[in-house]
Amino acid sequence: MKRILIANRGEIALRALRTIQEMGKEAVVIYSTADKDALYVKYADASICVGPPRSSDSYLNIPAIISAAQISESDAIFPGYGFLSENQTFVEICEKEGIKFIGPSVDAMSLMSDKSKAKSFMKRAGVPVVPGSDGVLKDVEMAKNLANEMGYPVILKAAAGGGGRGMRVVWKEEDIEKNFWSAESEALSAFGNGAMYIEKYIQNPRHIEVQVIGDEHGNVIHVGERDCSMQRRHQKLIEESPAVILDEDTRKKLHKTAVDATKAIGYSGAGTFEFLYDQASKEFYFIEMNTRLQVEHCVSEMVSGLDIVEWMIRVAEGEKLPSQDEISLKGHSIECRISAEDPKSFAPCPGKISKFVAPNGRNVRWDSHIYEGYVVPPFYDSMIGKLVVYASSREKAIAKMKVALDQLIIQGIKCTKNFHISMMDNEDFVTNNYDTNYLTKHY
Ligand code: ADP
Repeated sequence: MKRILIANRGEIALRALRTIQEMGKEAVVIYSTADKDALYVKYADASICVGPPRSSDSYLNIPAIISAAQISESDAIFPGYGFLSENQTFVEICEKEGIKFIGPSVDAMSLMSDKSKAKSFMKRAGVPVVPGSDGVLKDVEMAKNLANEMGYPVILKAAAGGGGRGMRVVWKEEDIEKNFWSAESEALSAFGNGAMYIEKYIQNPRHIEVQVIGDEHGNVIHVGERDCSMQRRHQKLIEESPAVILDEDTRKKLHKTAVDATKAIGYSGAGTFEFLYDQASKEFYFIEMNTRLQVEHCVSEMVSGLDIVEWMIRVAEGEKLPSQDEISLKGHSIECRISAEDPKSFAPCPGKISKFVAPNGRNVRWDSHIYEGYVVPPFYDSMIGKLVVYASSREKAIAKMKVALDQLIIQGIKCTKNFHISMMDNEDFVTNNYDTNYLTKHY
């Protein structure tokens, strides 16, 4: 591959661009009119405007993006996360047009895209899954019957769900019907698919996920696990690697489960197996596989020294992965997602950044597309950067993160920096005594 088009925006477009250029290839970017002043547009080897601000007219505009790839004579498309990264139609069109999609095959993607089907597949492959419906629910009666069998609380989830949407926890029978309808309509408007499934609601779990990479020769490696339990409304805010809550045996079992499952799918590219971990029983349960690069991949890069984007490109070029023995995981890495949001209410706060200073220093990584004078547009996700640190232990990583957060200066808009500062001083976070519901209970 000589030239790769990045079908995304923001920090991930810039992050991918760097690796593409470091590999001696050319990076072509697309942008909407709202992103014409973005940093990734300035650094690209070529840039093509694909439409007006609304995502449906630009970053989701398949004909415009395919034309951009053809006009720029790009050999491949790097999808990033969100937007078209898990869109099977897009992958099929890329294939038909002879443009390599840097990611898994349509078959692997379609197998994992319906979360209820993915669970059934994993169950058959011997992976422990959260008890629940086998496939999607036919109607609300079926949900009620299953909930009565399993016992409350239960969670209703959208089969096409993502980003914590289309999900409702139900504590008693009389609430199931209204939650079913509201989750279904949320899923329908967010994903164009209202199919729902039901699961036992695991109380106070940790969210632990395994980063895997497969190549086109059947080899699969893992790049350790991440703990993403600090969440707000089922969305991750802080991620770290390793998950120090796990003992060595459980960790090994988790890695093996993910690698075996990846092989069972015949998967190539980067992917993530997400599990809920029950601290009391030390059992883990598969919830879903994401068939793309994740926001939090950076913490795995820090503890492994691998460039995951580079390996996504190399396996897409047909290269073989290194063996698992060649991957050594050491130290501790933490990521804080910095968003243009009010640090108390988390309401989006787009606008112009009047002053900006990025933190730096040894093992401090700031993945972001913002700069002084940049205007955060109101049309997209409010994340404006990821502050990532690496140190020899969790304790030292927290200390490093505190200093780095303090040295991150963003003025003109509100951002979540102060939320993260308070978390780095939070006794429960520091002692690792929390679960996915921590913020709901305490904030
Ligand atoms: P999405 O695809 O929208 O991110 P996931 O299935 O990955 O949804 O779940 C996101 C989060 O929702 C999990 O990390 C966890 O906090 C919560 N969650 C999902 N399923 C359950 C469950 N069965 N029990 C308890 N919490 C759950």
